[in-house]
Amino acid sequence: MNKVIMVVCDALRDDTAAATMGYLQHIVEVKHASRYTVIAELPTMSRPLYETLHTGVPCSQHGVTNNQIVRRSIMPNVFELARAAGKVTAASAFYWYSELYNRVPYDPLADGEVDNPDLAIQHGRFYMSESYPDLEVFLAGGMLLRRFAPDYLLIHPMAMDYIGERFGSDSSEYRNNAIVQDQIMANLIPPALQAGYTILVTADHGISTDKTHGGTLPAVRHVPLYFIPADGNARGDTRESVTQCRIAPTLCHLLGMETPPTMTEAPILPA
Ligand SMILES: [Zn+2]
Repeated sequence: MNKVIMVVCDALRDDTAAATMGYLQHIVEVKHASRYTVIAELPTMSRPLYETLHTGVPCSQHGVTNNQIVRRSIMPNVFELARAAGKVTAASAFYWYSELYNRVPYDPLADGEVDNPDLAIQHGRFYMSESYPDLEVFLAGGMLLRRFAPDYLLIHPMAMDYIGERFGSDSSEYRNNAIVQDQIMANLIPPALQAGYTILVTADHGISTDKTHGGTLPAVRHVPLYFIPADGNARGDTRESVTQCRIAPTLCHLLGMETPPTMTEAPILPA
């Protein structure tokens, strides 16, 4: 059984990650990570795919069909399953995660920082500004890791989406921020592996040269998955494509939890 960190780099394209994230690509080259292309579910919008990543089902099943559907998840999801199994959960993430798994309506003064064992996300640090700096999101995640040693930790930086919607994916601003995220993760990942964590790095959706997302083209639908097992025994660049619905059962498998009947896709195995 593992402890798991999932980093969801909002709006990180598969090709941009491959071209710019030198640390992650290095650990793929030396087979300390397995790399996949994830085919994101549709629509390629944030809130529907946050829910898909944590429930393993498409929006036609979980019902969060667009960003304006503001309610808690009604499907079995990784956070609630982990809490029910007696595990410790944590997240440094955009406040929509608090709405999906903790409480609606979101009250930033009450819900922005929570440490409550009764919540699905027990230790939450949530931000509301889409321009909130990635470094602060990762640092809050690192703080949660050190302070609470959660079994499952979500880290969810937003700047690829914020910058991509202003400058487009074919911009130095967008590409350079992927390098910034990669270098932050180069600090985060080695000590997390030493602490026994398996780490997944992926995205909800990509972004287009038109400065948006939502459709079906590879620019918005192809996102990376770096699967970095705690034991360092991985496959390198698999050149395989996997459906995004496999992420949630993979998290359950890694956490040593049975997958609920709603998660029908097979988990991705580390090696
Ligand atoms: Zn998004």
